[in-house]
Amino acid sequence: MMRAENLRKVYQMDGAKVEALAGVTFHIAPGSYTALMGKSGSGKSTLMNMLGLLDTPTSGRYWLNGRDVSSLSEDELSVIRNREIGFVFQSHNLLARNTAVENVCLPLYYRGITRPQQQAAAALERVGLGHRKDHFPSQLSGGESQRVAIARAIVTEPRVILADEPTGNLDSRISGEILDIFGELVKTGVTLVMATHEADVAARARRTLHIRDGRIAEDAA
Ligand code: ADP
Ligand code: MG
Repeated sequence: MMRAENLRKVYQMDGAKVEALAGVTFHIAPGSYTALMGKSGSGKSTLMNMLGLLDTPTSGRYWLNGRDVSSLSEDELSVIRNREIGFVFQSHNLLARNTAVENVCLPLYYRGITRPQQQAAAALERVGLGHRKDHFPSQLSGGESQRVAIARAIVTEPRVILADEPTGNLDSRISGEILDIFGELVKTGVTLVMATHEADVAARARRTLHIRDGRIAEDAA
């Protein structure tokens, strides 16, 4: 499903080099639930962005759903991203001037679907937010906004969901509700990778990849 081989990412900062990923190799099976755990600065977001085709590695190779995506163009990557990946970030990144349902419509418009409202409303129902579909982000709580972001990620029915600290801005009760939604998604056969620095969040996953200084330090099933 996802296979990474010796992925490296080096950032250039004012002439200095930061090696955010120092050669990462792993395989993630279809339908699995993996936590990517490490402290702040360990390289979690860098790796998640590679897995989600939001950024390209400095070197190494990456296969998504059996396809080598290491050397595709930006246009090719965005098509695959739209078809095969749902991404949920720590901050929900909703468009403030659009209602919940309009935000969820966006990936469908990108696909050329001209009347996506019903499909978007159904995705909001799946995350328990059908009754808030015409609210604007400013009218939603943090947990509700994150539900909208999850609906936006799943509306295209991707096989892979990547979540980067999705509960990082939420209190523990609301975090639990959001993690329950992710747990339900895994039951439907989705492959989930979730980055977190919190052990109790990682404990929800069946496997934990521990990342330290840009390397996989431990792989615990
Ligand atoms: P995490 O998500 O685990 O907190 P990151 O992947 O964001 O870690 O960062 C890993 C390392 O790479 C850190 O040292 C960070 O400062 C550096 N880094 C991340 N993004 C950039 C960037 N765009 N430019 C320069 N350095 C970066
Ligand atoms: Mg991060």
